[in-house]
Amino acid sequence: MTKYNGRGVAAGVAVGRAVVAARDAHDVRYRLAASGVERERQRLRSARDRTRQQLEEISSRVSRTVGAAQASIFAAQLLMLDDPLLVSRADVLIRTERINADWALQRAIQELHDVFAREGDAWLSERVGDLADVSGRLQRNLRPDRDPLVDLIDELDPPVIVVARELPASVAAQLDWTRVRGLICEVGSPTHHTVILARSLGVPVVIGLSGASQAITPGQLLAIDGTSGEVVVEPTDETQERWMQRAELARAALAAFDDLSGKVAVTADGERVILEANLEIADEIARVIDAGAEGIGLYRSEFLLDAGHPDGAAEEVQTAVYRGLLSAMAPRPVTIRTFDAGEERGTGAWRTGGHRDRFGLRGIRAGLQHDDRFRAQIRALIRASASGTLRILLPFVTSSDEMRVARHMIVEIAREAGLSDQLAGIPIGAMIEVPAAALTTDALARNADFLSVGTNDLIQYTLAVDRTDERLAGHYEPMAPAVLRLLRLVAVGARAEKRPLSVCGEMAADPLLVALLVGLGFRQFSMTPSSIPVIKRALLTIDSRAARLLARRAVRASSAQMVHELLIPVADAMHAHATGLKGN
Ligand code: PEP
Ligand code: MG
Repeated sequence: MTKYNGRGVAAGVAVGRAVVAARDAHDVRYRLAASGVERERQRLRSARDRTRQQLEEISSRVSRTVGAAQASIFAAQLLMLDDPLLVSRADVLIRTERINADWALQRAIQELHDVFAREGDAWLSERVGDLADVSGRLQRNLRPDRDPLVDLIDELDPPVIVVARELPASVAAQLDWTRVRGLICEVGSPTHHTVILARSLGVPVVIGLSGASQAITPGQLLAIDGTSGEVVVEPTDETQERWMQRAELARAALAAFDDLSGKVAVTADGERVILEANLEIADEIARVIDAGAEGIGLYRSEFLLDAGHPDGAAEEVQTAVYRGLLSAMAPRPVTIRTFDAGEERGTGAWRTGGHRDRFGLRGIRAGLQHDDRFRAQIRALIRASASGTLRILLPFVTSSDEMRVARHMIVEIAREAGLSDQLAGIPIGAMIEVPAAALTTDALARNADFLSVGTNDLIQYTLAVDRTDERLAGHYEPMAPAVLRLLRLVAVGARAEKRPLSVCGEMAADPLLVALLVGLGFRQFSMTPSSIPVIKRALLTIDSRAARLLARRAVRASSAQMVHELLIPVADAMHAHATGLKGN
């Protein structure tokens, strides 16, 4: 039994067997039960046959169109395919070590590479490129058209705990989370979209365990606590028993909040607060309803682009999904954000290349450039709107002008599609998640029907801290006075223009930060469904007048540390309230 400690970023406790995505989500590793060996051998044979067929086709095409000499490259690759050290060796590894075909092939390739490197032979060195080419093709053919991790999880007996260096949101969106009960990542952050998704599904996540994907062996039994950040590898029977009880307690603690369901949220002094839910996967709508959300404050539609099939974002598919959401929630409002695909998402179709996304080719900017896709989404939204109460939210808006251009474009799209009448009643709002937008909220508000603050990005861009980079975790500080001052400007600007205003970033799910936000003037929040009862309870301990005084002092503070100290009595009051309840 070995223990590790990382950072717990999504609450819950789970016990399950490790599946390891060693370097990326394509390098998946798992130990097989005896019954799984034949299936993996067959997968390897099929991959070899498919690869052979493809290489023969390429070779004959090149021979016809370019020449026999050039075609010989592929003849050499065909020979490599039959090298006993490649496919046959991987087959031996599957049988003798009972490991999945992907892992076995990866090992055989590595061994072959080592042989090439050891020989130091010039001819062999030149073949390294061919080896990489043929082995890459073989690996892709093991699971044609499917993401390896997604495919593997579908085949395994749950419960499974995924251990990855980093798990891209585009892959996370396709996983069967009824099988994946926990996630351990070397790289990640509380506002990484994968973590946000897991949290909303109630799956515990531990991040910052560097080297975990090498240290944890596929198939090992793991116990993980997404609050404390503890990970136990191969727990003894007794420890396992304790962890099972712990998992039970964690579930019961969540259920204990249920007694407020059906009641609206108010502060201690009776100020009404609206609590809505964030949603990533449309099929999870039941969680939103069960949590007692008053609406959907943020549907991150870009998760549709990760649906794992090419039609995920087709206009008809989108229309059906939006209709489903609107009718399930009706008459409560549903805020659908247009695609916000940035570099950190890694979504294939929308990946616009490297670091550029993070520096601004995302959200509405990308929407206006990817004309057709934006048009299709707007049409789908308007067509679906009759099914309920729709609000359209535009992400990554940086100026009032940009908002004006986007609105104009939406009006044009509707007119061209003969949908102007339907568009008429739909509010169009702006996300405020860039300092430039926050600083000009009043001007922006004149071109927006409502505003929603994305604190995850606002903090990232204000403090120059990449929110997905765990090395900067200590610098990602929601209580930084700079952030609080911007938030105050936003609240003042929205009030001056009488625009509805909410916060949909992760700040809205933290009880202490909500106390600050209430003090700054915010009265509407959207968060992961499981946080709604928690925030509802915390609000009962917050007096809005005291919160206002607190916020006034916080924006004048010279450091985040001072804000932390200001909040100690608030934290104590919340704690006393919670323990008092338990005692009752
Ligand atoms: C935000 O930036 O706070 C937000 C809600 O959007 P996302 O997390 O999807 O970037
Ligand atoms: Mg954002």
